[in-house]
Amino acid sequence: MVRELFPNIFQIKVPLPHNPLGHLNSYLVTSGEKNLLIDTGLNLPQAFHSLSRGLSEAGVKLEDLTEVLLTHFHVDHVGLIPRVKEASKNVKISIHQIEAKLSEMIAEKSLDYKGNVETFLEANGAPSSIAQNLRRFHPAFFAPEAYQVLAMSAFPLEHGQELSVGDYNFQVIWTPGHSPGHICLYEPSLKVLISGDHLLPTITPHVAQFMEEMDPLRDYLESLEKTGNIEVEVVLPAHEEVFTDHYERIQQLREHHKRRLKEVLFELKAGSLTAYMLASRVQWNVKHKSWDEFPLFQKYLALGETLAHLKVLEQKGRVKRTELNQLIFYDVTEKIRDEHD
Ligand SMILES: [Zn+2]
Ligand SMILES: [Zn+2]
Repeated sequence: MVRELFPNIFQIKVPLPHNPLGHLNSYLVTSGEKNLLIDTGLNLPQAFHSLSRGLSEAGVKLEDLTEVLLTHFHVDHVGLIPRVKEASKNVKISIHQIEAKLSEMIAEKSLDYKGNVETFLEANGAPSSIAQNLRRFHPAFFAPEAYQVLAMSAFPLEHGQELSVGDYNFQVIWTPGHSPGHICLYEPSLKVLISGDHLLPTITPHVAQFMEEMDPLRDYLESLEKTGNIEVEVVLPAHEEVFTDHYERIQQLREHHKRRLKEVLFELKAGSLTAYMLASRVQWNVKHKSWDEFPLFQKYLALGETLAHLKVLEQKGRVKRTELNQLIFYDVTEKIRDEHD
């Protein structure tokens, strides 16, 4: 399904089967000489079919794409890259420099990468059904071709870079958090923000920590501040529907994380817990009634989210960690109950 949102800017809905996100929005910007596609879809026949059909309804053949820009390296965005590259040999593929590097690491050293994540999750209390099962959860292992293409041919993007297509001039805005090299694109004449997964109208973008040295929630909150300071009239997100009033949405997302940080502190006041134990006590907005009913993948995501919140609290000096039998336990630094902080 294709819709022309502004002159020469099209939205193509690409299905994401069996995924609560429903579909990916791919955006096409055309001019006489350039055809820029933003994000692609999962590497599945029906997604490829929808993308190709959407492009042709917008008057562009797959082989006529001149550039593909990826908001970030998640598999629902990069999955169809090998198919696009095959059809359009000279297409320029761009992604933020951090994710160009991560794609190289995934393509070339996937076992080291997996080992690091496994060790981190096990230390935080994840059972082996999760930590030893990353092949099922981690896109690096079920969509390796896309990362190989990115490792070989992606052009690295930087914050502040500009891309022009016809009369439009898109500015690259680095918005780490949902992923380390996530970018949004801002078009000032339209006041349009192509937001990737940084801002979605109703779903809270997933912010999770899977490696010790990251602080993704701090990054995400800083990125919300960055995009909150931009004058935006319309947001074109990578999932769900186009929306306005981005500032209100940003406030809601900030509130959500503030509440979650409080909730984590509250749970820890009863005594020290591993991140995994803590994840099982947090209230998650999912259809499953109890933690035991959560599918493993959901538990994996919840653990990553919990770790991201713990990291922020630890950096602020609100929680501390102790290690016991190779497990990390978290505890509050003061037991004073303060409902207003
Ligand atoms: Zn994503
Ligand atoms: Zn996504």
